[in-house]
Amino acid sequence: MGSFKLGTMTLRSIFKKPETILYPVVEKSAPDGLKGHIENDMAVCILCGICAKTCPAGSLRVDKAEKLWAIDRFGCVQCGSCTRACPKSCLTMEPTYQKPSASKREDVYFKPEESQEEKAAKEAAKAAKIEAAMKAKEAKEAEASEA
Ligand code: SF4
Ligand code: SF4
Repeated sequence: MGSFKLGTMTLRSIFKKPETILYPVVEKSAPDGLKGHIENDMAVCILCGICAKTCPAGSLRVDKAEKLWAIDRFGCVQCGSCTRACPKSCLTMEPTYQKPSASKREDVYFKPEESQEEKAAKEAAKAAKIEAAMKAKEAKEAEASEA
C-alpha cells in the first residue's frame, strides 16, 4: 500500500509544476506586506547621521567628510525606524528582495557631486531667502518706528 502511494506521488510530481524556482535566475515575486530593504536617495541625503543614531541594530554608518552612507544589510532588521527619523525623507523600504550574497558585506553609497547648475540654483535660492528676510526685517523696523 505504501509503495503504491509513493509511486502515485512520484508520477504526479513528474507532470506537476515545480514547487521551487531557479532563484536568482528567475525573479521571486514579493508577497504582500514584504518590508524589503532600505534604499537611500543619495542626491537628497544631507548626511546628517540621524538615521545611524536611530538604528537599533547599529547597521548604518554615515561619514560626512567622506560623503558616504553605508548599510550592513545582514544586520538590518527592517524595523523602518531610520525611514521615519530621516528629516529629508530620502530613505524608503523597497518591497523587493535583495541580491543574494555569498559573504556578509556592507553596502556603501556616495553622495553624487553637484553640477554647476545645481550649485548655482542653490546659491540663488539662498540669496533669495536672505533678501526676503532682510526685507521682512526692514518692514518690521519701519512699522516699529512709525508706532
Ligand atoms: S537621516 Fe536621512 S538625510 Fe540624514 S544621513 Fe540618514 S538618510 Fe541621510
Ligand atoms: S530598518 Fe531598522 S535596522 Fe534597518 S537600517 Fe533602518 S533602523 Fe536600522
